[in-house]
Amino acid sequence: MAGQFYIVATPIGNLGDITLRAIEVLKSADYIACEDTRITKVLADKYDIGAKLFDCHKFNEKERSIKIIELLNSGCNVAFVSDAGTPCISDPGCILTDEIIKSGIKVTAIPGACAVSTFLSLVPRKTEEFAFIGFIPRIKTRRIELLKKYRYVNTVFYDSPNRLMETLEDISEEFGKDTKIAVARELTKIFEEVKIAPVEEIIEYYKENPLKGEIVVMVFAKEQQDFDEEDLAEKIEILKSEGFSQKDITRIITKLFGINKNKIYNLALKSK
Ligand code: SAM
Repeated sequence: MAGQFYIVATPIGNLGDITLRAIEVLKSADYIACEDTRITKVLADKYDIGAKLFDCHKFNEKERSIKIIELLNSGCNVAFVSDAGTPCISDPGCILTDEIIKSGIKVTAIPGACAVSTFLSLVPRKTEEFAFIGFIPRIKTRRIELLKKYRYVNTVFYDSPNRLMETLEDISEEFGKDTKIAVARELTKIFEEVKIAPVEEIIEYYKENPLKGEIVVMVFAKEQQDFDEEDLAEKIEILKSEGFSQKDITRIITKLFGINKNKIYNLALKSK
């Protein structure tokens, strides 16, 4: 009979943030495949976990999945952990999980710490809807494109302290200085910090204070009434001059910008 395969969440800073079930599973595993054996060894030593460790990271995940499937087929129990938090969330694990599912072996996930969910617990929002885009792209054009795509949804992303200021400047330039954002640093650690304020204030704050550690950011969704009426009227005018009917204009603008139908219809009526 094949062994058990587990994807196990580990702490994102505070080593106490691990579930009883995760410890139990890691203790019962014969092998733990981990992103970096040196990092997982610290956790294993703390919790008396005796499993054999070997590396499985983004550069060898596919190849390691062959070894892991062999181990499972020989009856061994295998767990996979990333360096911190939940595997497969901006971390390796997806290729491996895919291969294991394809081999017909059951995959069990052991939930636990994750920087996105920890962050969302600390940032009050008006709506449930949010978009998580993983690490924000390094390339400016790609970064702005993505932020624009999700401007009407609370958009959460990971960023590095070296690049955050650039990202904040982009947000300020594209969406305005008063755009509300949240930045969390070093969640669950000694220097945990959460700032929720207009982007302009956050930029000023980080000019004065050191920007170090691990970071999660949210750009709050632009609200429908944030939409500039003049800009909207201009768009309607362009569509009209291209021969679109009032009904089509309403449909297109609603779909593109998520603005109230009646508001567009009335503006379209008003425009000559
Ligand atoms: N799989 C992890 C998870 O469940 O959150 C994410 C791994 S990703 C490679 C690492 C990034 O997650 C960091 O660069 C940072 O943006 C974010 N992150 C991880 N731990 C964090 C923490 N304690 N505080 C703030 N952000 C954190």
